[in-house]
Amino acid sequence: MNAQRRDVLVIGGGISGLTVAWTLHKAGVDVCLMDAAQHVGGCSQTSRKNGFLLERGPFNVIVRDPSFERMLEDVADTVSVVPANDAAKLRYIYRHGKLHVVPTNPIALMRTKLLSVRAKARLLRGLLWSHRSQSEDETIETVVSRRLGPEVADTIVSAAVNGILAGDISKLSLGACFPLAAKIDAAMRSPIGYGLRKALGGSKDKRAKHKRKWPGLVSIEGGLGVLMDALASPMGDSCKTNCKVNSILPNNTGYEVAYKSPSGQDSELSTLSCRRIVMALPVAQTVQVLSHAFPQAASAIEPVLSSPLTIVNLGYRNTSVGHPLRGFGFLVPRNEKEMPIMGALFADSVFPHHAPRGHRLLRVFLGGAQNPDINNHTDEQLRDIAIAGLRNLLHITGDPVLVDIIRYKAAIPQYHAGHRDRIAQFIAAIEQFPGMYAVGNYLEGASLNDCVRVAHKCAENIIEDAEPKSAAMKEMPSTKNIATSCACMNKDMLSVS
Ligand SMILES: Cc1cc2nc3c(=O)[nH]c(=O)nc-3n(C[C@H](O)[C@H](O)[C@H](O)COP(=O)(O)OP(=O)(O)OC[C@H]3O[C@@H](n4cnc5c(N)ncnc54)[C@H](O)[C@@H]3O)c2cc1C
Repeated sequence: MNAQRRDVLVIGGGISGLTVAWTLHKAGVDVCLMDAAQHVGGCSQTSRKNGFLLERGPFNVIVRDPSFERMLEDVADTVSVVPANDAAKLRYIYRHGKLHVVPTNPIALMRTKLLSVRAKARLLRGLLWSHRSQSEDETIETVVSRRLGPEVADTIVSAAVNGILAGDISKLSLGACFPLAAKIDAAMRSPIGYGLRKALGGSKDKRAKHKRKWPGLVSIEGGLGVLMDALASPMGDSCKTNCKVNSILPNNTGYEVAYKSPSGQDSELSTLSCRRIVMALPVAQTVQVLSHAFPQAASAIEPVLSSPLTIVNLGYRNTSVGHPLRGFGFLVPRNEKEMPIMGALFADSVFPHHAPRGHRLLRVFLGGAQNPDINNHTDEQLRDIAIAGLRNLLHITGDPVLVDIIRYKAAIPQYHAGHRDRIAQFIAAIEQFPGMYAVGNYLEGASLNDCVRVAHKCAENIIEDAEPKSAAMKEMPSTKNIATSCACMNKDMLSVS
């Protein structure tokens, strides 16, 4: 055993942990980051194969939070932000064997073939007047069906939510996933009336709003992995990979973590003491490291499940793809049972540098909450499923020149009904321990922007809280704040909605 001591230890080097550590390091705080993997970045990794740029996890970002914007400006010497092509504005939903453009205005909504005439009449009625929410924590399906009719929920909303959260609208909480929508639902009867009021009275709000430097979807030149490396590199040796934390114990001066270091023998664990600790792990791993010494905190979030996901990247020669692939991609609603995939992104239409000249790159999604057994398939089966989903639809002939498969057992945390209460209990439980903090995608939204926002807020609390007193999480949001501050997981994820 070798023991060391640091002021702050961050466990987990995805975007959440890196943001905390980078911000603290910049402020001169003695901080160390440990990650179990060989490379920092968590699910935000980029690789290259045969001239294709492959994002292992997130594909694009929406930079909404000012702290995210400032962070990108600070690393501008090594990180260049690349805006998405204008073509990305066109998005499709698969229905009855065809791709339909997602309607983005009332006239397009009335004309779309995505919905039956009856569903459109029901939608119109709901937009003019429909019942407000009677309960605090309804599922997305319940609210949308009550407001706009079951067909809209089944077709448009189930597809969009599949794209954003790989989730099931019959289980996800509207309030936890889309707090603003839940707030509006609770407040008014007429969605059209609300829209008009906003349009007429909104000019003042708009002026007060932060003007975003990158208003649309963006990525990073060379891929998102470049950003992760840029955040890690100023820390030098204080950013430790191949260090898997096993447990955390409170002691007189803070915390002691036991971790498996790359130099340790098979069963030997090293220890490190720190005054303050930040858990920046996926939800299941947070439960694991807390379960021994902090059972109350661990049990609060143990029920939070994450949906499995597989990405099959297919690269084709230009000449093999008959469809122009103009747009961001398409999503599949839950009522299209015979379609074996969740959707696909037209990767090089959004970011042309993702495919070599003369080639196309399709990023196909399989699994999600609707198809949790997807990872039981072999690579060959996954490849065949992905190809079968696209071949006729996109007029593809010939074989792909690139097949690359990325499997996630637990990709996106699912904010099911009751989520906000669980997180409130979790926060209350760790508030008992001075100097203990948690960040990550199971708290206030799973998008990169949400992770950065939460992580930056946490780092600021640590900096301000140089001498931690009784409540370590005192400036982290209460559940009420979580519910209202989640700008939440909107179009910046897998979404083509
Ligand atoms: C396939 C996919 C596509 C996505 N697409 C988008 C998108 O396009 N846009 C968007 O905004 N968001 C997207 N998201 C969501 C977003 O990328 C994630 O929510 C976010 O990256 C999570 O970051 P994190 O740092 O909280 O966790 P992670 O990235 O999961 O990082 C956690 C880190 O903890 C480490 N770790 C785990 N256990 C231990 C341990 N015991 N000891 C030490 N270290 C440990 C892991 O190695 C990992 O590095 C996507 C997510 C996935 C999975």
